[in-house]
Parts: sequence; C-alpha cells; structure tokens
Amino acid sequence: MIDQQLVACGRSGNIIREIAEYGAEQAKIVGPENVYNFTIGSPSIDPPPCVAEKMDELRASIPAAQLYTYAPAAGLPEVRAKAAAYLTKTFGVNYRAQDVIITCGTSTCLAAMTRVLLSGGGRAMTFTPYFMDYKYYADAYGEGLTECPTDPDTFQLDLDAAEKALTSDTMMLIINSPNNPSGVVLKREGLEGLARLLERKQLEYGHPIYILADEPYRELVYDGQEVVYLPSIYKNTIYCYSFSKSMSLPGERVGFMALPPELDDYDDIYSAAMATIRAFGYICVSSMWQRVAIDCLGETSDISVYKGNRDLLYGSLTGMGYTCVHPDGAFYLFMKTPEPDATAFCRRAMKDNLLVVPGDSFGTPGYVRLAYCVSRATIERSLPTFRKLAEEYGIAK
Ligand code: PLP
Repeated sequence: MIDQQLVACGRSGNIIREIAEYGAEQAKIVGPENVYNFTIGSPSIDPPPCVAEKMDELRASIPAAQLYTYAPAAGLPEVRAKAAAYLTKTFGVNYRAQDVIITCGTSTCLAAMTRVLLSGGGRAMTFTPYFMDYKYYADAYGEGLTECPTDPDTFQLDLDAAEKALTSDTMMLIINSPNNPSGVVLKREGLEGLARLLERKQLEYGHPIYILADEPYRELVYDGQEVVYLPSIYKNTIYCYSFSKSMSLPGERVGFMALPPELDDYDDIYSAAMATIRAFGYICVSSMWQRVAIDCLGETSDISVYKGNRDLLYGSLTGMGYTCVHPDGAFYLFMKTPEPDATAFCRRAMKDNLLVVPGDSFGTPGYVRLAYCVSRATIERSLPTFRKLAEEYGIAK
C-alpha cells in the first residue's frame, strides 16, 4: 500500500514549475520576447572563466577512465581537503578534510541532514519567508516544520517570536541568508541574539539544537553587506554550500557540507549522514565536477549583472507605487501584492504574460516573488505591464 500522504504531496505539484510551463506554452504563441518570466531561480549568466579552463586542464592531465570514475561517497580526498582549507582560511573556523562531505548541491545536505537530525523524532524550524523544500524534508523525515515569523517590514529575525516558536521538540533550524525568496541578508545582531537564545534553550531542553546554514547565495550580495558565517557564532552549525548559484552551475549538482569537529554528537551525525546519503542512492557527486568546482572556489560569475537587474527592478517597481523589501542579496525580489490574495494577483498578471510566484509558496501570503536572474531586456519590456497593473489596482504613483 502506497503512503497516501506521499501521493498527495506528489500530486500537489510545484506551482513555480506550473507557471513556468504555462510561460513556455505562451512563448510559442506570442513569442518568447513577449513573455516576462520571473519564476525560476536559475542563473542566466555564464560561469566564471576558470570553470572552462579547469575542465580543459583536467581533461588534458587525467586519463578519462580516472576522470569519470566513481568517487568515494563523501567526495575525493583532495577535494575535501581543499574545501576544508578554504573554509578555515576564509572564515577562521577550523575544519579537517574529513569534516567535509561533497554533496549534490545544498539540496542533498538539507534533505539528508533533516533526516539525520529528526530521526529520533522532533521538528524543524525556519523563518518566514522560506524556501519551500524545507517543508517537504521536515514533513517527510520528522514531525513537521515550525514557521517562525520575522519582522514584517524588514524580514529580519524577531527574537521574541523565535523564543515563542521554540519548543523542546525543536531539534534543528534552517537559516537561509541571503534569502530565497526575499533577497534579505540577515543582520549580525539578530543572528548573534538567536545563537545566544539557542544556547540557552539547549540547556533548558537538555538536548542539542542544530542549525543548518543553507547558503547557496553566500557570494550574491551587492552593497558590501556582511554575510555572517554562522558556524563562527554558533558551534552546532552544519554549513551547507552550493556551486549552483554564484558559479552558475545548477545542473552539475555540486556542493558540500562541513561539520565542525566540536559539533555535539559529531560521530553519530557523521555516520548517520553517510548512511542517509547512501540510502538516498547518491553514490557520489561527479568526479570531474567536484574537482572543477573546488578549484574555482571563491570565484563567481559576473554578479554585477544581477546587481544592475536588482537596481532597475527595485527602482522601477517602488517608483510605480509597489512596496518591496530592499533585496541586498540573492537574485530575488519579494513584492507586496496590491490585493491580499497573491495567487489571484499572479493569475491576473499571467493574462498579460507576466509570470511571478505567489508568496504563499514561501509561507508568506500577500507577496509575490520575482526571480530577476533574467535578461535586462526582459525586465525593461515587462515594466509597462507592471505599470498597467499598478494603475488597474489603483496604487500607481
Ligand atoms: N536552498 C535555497 C534557499 C535555494 O533557493 C535552493 C535552490 O533554488 C536550494 C537550497 C537548492 O539548491 P542546490 O541544490 O542547487 O544547491
């Protein structure tokens, strides 16, 4: 008998993909230049040049049978060593090669570690708005996800709300900064306050509370904003990193997690993580791509393109009368909808081939997410439609 909860979950589909598919169909009818598709967070700019250079270098220097071979499940030893050395040097938190596990983006880290940390029961917690997959993982492997509200004007942490949301069932938190979908970068003050709160709660509840630091957008910040390295302020943090966004390699599926040596229950967590990755059927990440990515660690695509997009879109939309929290990072803008029902707004916008995603998908009704990792021309061409909607809803300035 198939688990009907799982069946229902699969049937509920993914609204982002649904809207994007509608866009692809519309493009065939009205032409791709007349569809303004802001739905998918897939990078639109080329990877940094070192990616192609490394691929050529590896192909020339390593025999093919060796280059494409299976890697050990936790990753190639030299790749793990390079990642550990990079983290230690960059963030001042000491890691050994054996503390790093190479994964298929941060998705594998998040899914596997949610399963590990909730395997004895309990819940995960995150802050709204949040990346919807967290809920799938927490529902699938534990007793669910607690959604903790943030400051409604800034989406920064609200420590009183966090204290209320934490219970003795909370085993782990997922923190994502720069954030998908808001583009907000969490401030040090709030994060340090949260770290002290969690330390207190660990003592009160008599068990560790772990943080998964979900950081696929770490390098995507635009105005010199600090992206706090969570393991440096809270010991029980598992760092989850990906090459998907800042290096424009989402389809190659490379990332890693790093467990600090002083993590509570380190040995059990490490062993259970390896068992889980195996149970998921992830034998290893591509041997070639883990080598390429790690040798380019620290390099990024030309992110000034996203900054230009951000400035144009944020400036234009707020100028027209829309309300948006200023996005300091990632490539998303979260816009308040001029009517409370964000899905209704999305459906109205779709009629004019403007495709955006309702905030309900991110635990935050009344907003839409715009992924501005699109061409500048798409943004420019979409602006008259945003203006038309602003006028229609009576908010136009
Ligand atoms: N976490 C967040 C916040 C994301 O936005 C994404 C992808 O969009 C992921 C995790 C998964 O990314 P990947 O598995 O490609 O690293």
